[in-house]
Amino acid sequence: MLEVQQILEVAVAAPVMGVFDYLAPASVDAPLLVGQRLRVPFGRGTRMGWLVGSKAVSELPAHRLRRVLSVLDTEPLLPPDLLGMLVWAARYYQHPLGEVLAAALPKALREGRDTASGEMLWALNAEGMSADPEILRRAPAQLRIYQALRDRPLPAAAADLEAVTSTWRRALAALGARGWVTVSHATVALPVADIAPDVPPELTADQARAVEQINAAQGYQCFLLDGVTGSGKTEVYLRSIEQVLATGKQSLVLVPEIGLTPQLLERFQRRFQLPVALLHSGLSDGERLRAFTASSDGTARIVIGTRSAIFAPLQRPGLIVADEEHDPSYKQQEGWRYSARDLAVWRARELGVPLVLGSATPSLESIENARSGRYTRLVLPLRTGAAGQPRVSLIDLRQHIPSEGLTQPLLAAIRRHLGAGGQVLIYLNRRGYAPVLMCPGCGEVVECKRCDARMVLHQQRGLLVCHHCGSERPVPAQCPECTAELKAVGQGTERLERALAAAFPDQQIERIDRDTTRRRGEIERRLRRVRDEEARILMGTQMLTKGHDFPRVTLVGIVDADQGLFGSDFRSAERLAQSFVQVAGRAGRAEHPGEVCLQTMFPEHPLLRVLINEGYAQFATLALEERRQAGWPPFACLALLRAEASQRPQVFSFLQAAAALAREYAPAGLNVLGPASAPMERRAGRYRGQLLLQAGSRRELQRFLPAWREAVAGIEVQRRVRWSLDVDPVDLF
Ligand code: ADP
Ligand code: ZN
Repeated sequence: MLEVQQILEVAVAAPVMGVFDYLAPASVDAPLLVGQRLRVPFGRGTRMGWLVGSKAVSELPAHRLRRVLSVLDTEPLLPPDLLGMLVWAARYYQHPLGEVLAAALPKALREGRDTASGEMLWALNAEGMSADPEILRRAPAQLRIYQALRDRPLPAAAADLEAVTSTWRRALAALGARGWVTVSHATVALPVADIAPDVPPELTADQARAVEQINAAQGYQCFLLDGVTGSGKTEVYLRSIEQVLATGKQSLVLVPEIGLTPQLLERFQRRFQLPVALLHSGLSDGERLRAFTASSDGTARIVIGTRSAIFAPLQRPGLIVADEEHDPSYKQQEGWRYSARDLAVWRARELGVPLVLGSATPSLESIENARSGRYTRLVLPLRTGAAGQPRVSLIDLRQHIPSEGLTQPLLAAIRRHLGAGGQVLIYLNRRGYAPVLMCPGCGEVVECKRCDARMVLHQQRGLLVCHHCGSERPVPAQCPECTAELKAVGQGTERLERALAAAFPDQQIERIDRDTTRRRGEIERRLRRVRDEEARILMGTQMLTKGHDFPRVTLVGIVDADQGLFGSDFRSAERLAQSFVQVAGRAGRAEHPGEVCLQTMFPEHPLLRVLINEGYAQFATLALEERRQAGWPPFACLALLRAEASQRPQVFSFLQAAAALAREYAPAGLNVLGPASAPMERRAGRYRGQLLLQAGSRRELQRFLPAWREAVAGIEVQRRVRWSLDVDPVDLF
């Protein structure tokens, strides 16, 4: 343990770079430890801070040194590996350390509260779960508490129920008297007794080889588990975790989407009957705090979570898994723009534990890392069960004119698969009723007043909505220019749902997109109706392509394969290829063979041809070659300076000054590209521009960034400009 010297170095939770010198508090009962939370005077107020180091002398004159007001923890909340990672990450991503540390903690701890221990928790027992809430009709408070308990994946704490109704104590006692409620003092989701344990399948030869290699890892090793959808990657995670559990250690499992956590949780609970903690953005503050604590004190043997779960402190870490490692949601897109996948690599190395990155469509970065030997590639080329790869056919939209988005061949395929007892999944990555509202008379298109974008018609809500800034307005009755009646052009999921309902009046249709799944638990309810075969037609956006398992879906229809075919970003081809392969992979799990139909105007497009005829791996090889020639990642490193302001000239004078500084500071080999307007220049009434820095290596970029960033912060006009620096951006807009 470090001996703490007289001058304390404190990372203050404030948007300022650097650490600050303080004097130790007047009296301390216990030794000061690096990682402890402190309360410090800052400016005219006080702030939370973290002790990150100490030294004998300060450069500040003695009279300017202020004292720490209090020490909040007896033990540091963040273990050394995590603190080390965060200190490194603050520097790497050029973000204030205090804010980085704050972002890593649940809100309650960030605000100075204590960790949760011994808190009371309530859940419905089996009897409560199967009870008929109809008898609570006359007791609305009880009914609301009942529903709250039923709909949540984890037991509830006082704070959670308080949020439902202030009379929760009485309501809860009444439900208790009915014999429906269990009480626990645990800090985490305990194994749910009424989930039946599963019988692990016998591993395929490929799976067995993968598990063996992961289990044989001595310390850090990064594996790229490259397995087609349905090849049993999750089973490989489960077996590796089993081994880790046997040695008494914990496993951390990252998933890209909150929607995937309940499904995975259930699978883990069936297998292990052990406490699992969930960490994701949908939790209440109380739940988050409990999961954090359970992970930190070792109660939770497995921690499952989205992006920010990479900050879970682990008592006895044994393994980290990042599922769907290619998914862009691993990158935080505002504030501190970290990549949880990349941090996982750092953390696993620091902890000396194996890391498994799994995907059916690995990122080009990871493929290149495997090729160069930094990662160990494990391949699962075959699906488990009898079903082979789905058969893919293209429907040429120039020959088959669609009506309401659907062509005759696609309708026929749907009819055929439904007739054979299968389910169908129809994919359209565009929500709302129609993306364009146009005047057939004068060609006028209704645009957002604040963005360079069109308003999307949401017919059910009777509104026009801008998907970029969120502004809404009533649907105009007629064209404001020529008074003709406006026409909805193009398809969104809302319109497609109607078209499908008209074509298949006897079928129940489940639409899954952000509009239909706003309510908590709604995704699960809809997915359950599909899994229970109450609904046989499933349709929706990107949300459907992510990891969900639909064993009886035999047909996947891609309504508009051309969306994104001509994207401007150097990553658009990779994105498109990944979402195709992912959505196509939903077809034909287990013993049912699958079919995929793509509607396209461009059946000869090279991207579609390579993907369909040769597969993702070949696509990746070609795409990597293109990246190498063009000098894009992974053969270069990027940082993107984004700026926005209410006036366009301010944006550009700021970016031009930043570009001039970059050219002045830049080592040879560092390219300064721009400034340029953002692809959508005006959003929410503000003008946006960007400057791209391209370096041959991380080291080169990292050597340059700190001094340049500091210089940029000194540019005069920057006060009127909102700007941010994105290291390793995933989108160039
Ligand atoms: P992935 O994560 O690669 O999509 P999963 O692990 O979800 O694949 O497996 C797909 C399906 O195959 C699941 O229903 C799973 O239970 C089953 N499965 C996995 N491994 C085996 C195996 N060795 N034998 C039989 N079924 C398996
Ligand atoms: Zn807008």
